[in-house]
Amino acid sequence: MIVRGISGARGIGLGKVYVYTHEDVVIPKDKIEESAVADEQAQIMAALDKTVAQLEAIRDKTAQTMGKKESAIFDAHILIAQDPALIDEAKNLVASEQCTAAEAVSRTVEQFAAVFSAMDDEYMRARGADIKDIGDRLLRNVLGMTPLGLSHLTEEVILVANDLTPSDTASLDKRLVKGIVTACGGPTSHAAIMARTLEIPAVMGVGYIDSFTDGARAIVKGSEGEVLLDPTETEWQEYAVKADNYQRQVQELKNTAKLEAVTKDGHAVLLYGNMGKVRDIERIKQVGGTGVGLFRTEFLYMENDELPSLDKQFATYKQAAEAMEGQPVVIRTMDIGGDKELKCLNLPKEMNPFLGYRAIRICLRHPDILRTQLKAVLKASAYGKLSVMYPMISSVEEVKAANAILNEMKEELRQEGTPFDDQLPVGIMVEIPAVAISAEYFVPYVDFFSIGTNDLCQYTLAVDRMNERISHLYQPLHPSVLHLIKNTIDASHKYNKITGMCGEMAGDPVTTMILLGLGLDEFSMNAASIPMVKHIIRSVTLQECQKIASLALFMDTAESVLNLAKTELEKRGLNL
Ligand code: PEP
Ligand code: MG
Repeated sequence: MIVRGISGARGIGLGKVYVYTHEDVVIPKDKIEESAVADEQAQIMAALDKTVAQLEAIRDKTAQTMGKKESAIFDAHILIAQDPALIDEAKNLVASEQCTAAEAVSRTVEQFAAVFSAMDDEYMRARGADIKDIGDRLLRNVLGMTPLGLSHLTEEVILVANDLTPSDTASLDKRLVKGIVTACGGPTSHAAIMARTLEIPAVMGVGYIDSFTDGARAIVKGSEGEVLLDPTETEWQEYAVKADNYQRQVQELKNTAKLEAVTKDGHAVLLYGNMGKVRDIERIKQVGGTGVGLFRTEFLYMENDELPSLDKQFATYKQAAEAMEGQPVVIRTMDIGGDKELKCLNLPKEMNPFLGYRAIRICLRHPDILRTQLKAVLKASAYGKLSVMYPMISSVEEVKAANAILNEMKEELRQEGTPFDDQLPVGIMVEIPAVAISAEYFVPYVDFFSIGTNDLCQYTLAVDRMNERISHLYQPLHPSVLHLIKNTIDASHKYNKITGMCGEMAGDPVTTMILLGLGLDEFSMNAASIPMVKHIIRSVTLQECQKIASLALFMDTAESVLNLAKTELEKRGLNL
């Protein structure tokens, strides 16, 4: 059976289905009989044993895959789980209040976590989050549910889920997950971006996942956006060979890491990687990325229950600057809102979150958030080549307001005698059509533009980037989008400034020749896409790309542009 969706990450993955669901915990709150107390208490002990066994398995696996240091956190988790104070308190509650094992565990964990979360010491507060995490696992075990997260996986699987959140994918082991299939989302969803980063073949937006059952065989055809469910033995063998070949080709392309991103007629472009965590830098450098065109700082904000401190941000940005060893890192200021929630800001639910209170709009309403972040970036700029850029800019006033805060922070650092890069380049993301249309008005206030096509496409075409039902309308090669890209690049060039692109379109090999022809100066993408895009850049001339781009600009449908791009790639044998 063929299940169709949208390509999320290229490649072919074979394995057995594992359906991952986010079942909500429902705690039975009825009063139990006195005679049932011992049973409920025994349930807590059994759940504790299971929890400890799971944590030990995770610890051992982490030690093998990431090293002893990284696995040490799970030793601490095991100790917390086994703390007699926690378990005894829960058992006592069952006896004294005749409540269910689940209710007793839930209340005890909340009480313990609250004590830690209220402490002044940042380290101790973080232990509060650990207790909640362990408590959630314990509770799910009491209720006989699957634990959240993916760290419990022990065998190779095709991961099937409605959607995957950042906390799901944080615990994902790329050696075990051979393919990803999601019901929701498209190529710019978090799950797709993560799949490409980890180089796991992925198909998004298949609509329903009811036909997938645990243990069934599946083949994920990432590039085609298709899944073969219950394939025949012949199909299985055939695709196993194809998957091997694909892997070999990917490996060969990676050998181009040391080569320059320059066309056959000598036109050089900047080929950078996108990152969310400092650890992504290693991959970017490995495949030959010579800078970071987008550091998504949201993870710093999302991983804790409170806003990240100046020190924490400074340490992270400094680490990134140093890891890139003098090569550029573009730090994007907080882009929360839209599909990214932030617990500590208590953002109200909105009718249209993508058109609502997000990114720079939040930062300008809460200038302290921006102050702290810009000060941290400036401080870290003394340790490498940093730039900063503001997301979701829609007006010149916003750029001016953000720049005023940047200048205020520079002044503070001067007063403190703290070194920083006074020439720190400032850019804006071009992701709202209004900015692309009137790009010339913005040029005087910035050093560079970076086109965020993920949002630019959804706003230009009025197509929700997360909605799989209309994903066929999400067309980065739509004539309107191409003209907006051209207008942005032309405006920057008129004033000798540069335009980059950090949306997913920059890493899609089908678009490379057109973007080159339009004059894009910097391509920033998932590390995994760098070798292929570099291969294309090195196989063509700027002149021929300019011709193709001019042709594309005359076409009236995305489909004709796509056909043109594909034909030109095929002509040159570049259709990997
Ligand atoms: C974009 O909109 O293209 C972009 C890079 O930002 P994000 O995907 O984080 O919204
Ligand atoms: Mg965006």
